[in-house]
Amino acid sequence: MKNKIEYTESDCIRMEPDCYDGDDCEDLRPRWNAGVEKEGDCSLGDQLTFLAKHFPPGTRIVIETPICPNCDESADMNTPIEFGREWPDCDCGFSWSNWAREEYE
Ligand SMILES: [Zn+2]
Repeated sequence: MKNKIEYTESDCIRMEPDCYDGDDCEDLRPRWNAGVEKEGDCSLGDQLTFLAKHFPPGTRIVIETPICPNCDESADMNTPIEFGREWPDCDCGFSWSNWAREEYE
């Protein structure tokens, strides 16, 4: 008989852009942040690396993306961001960049 394994959330890493990037300090720069117990948030830079040997067997990495508050569509992850750092607006017109500025400034 297989044992049913339950899961607990051990880490939460969030993509919280730096809202003061660029020469004019108004650009959004993608970055990963993690909450560290008793120390608050810390920045992990723009790239994450997960070494399998640092996790127990059965570990899952789940990626959740935000959903537009107006129309319930997922934020667009498929539009390539080549040189700009702005995220595309939702098809309904909701601005993810403005939302990020309000949320993380
Ligand atoms: Zn929308």
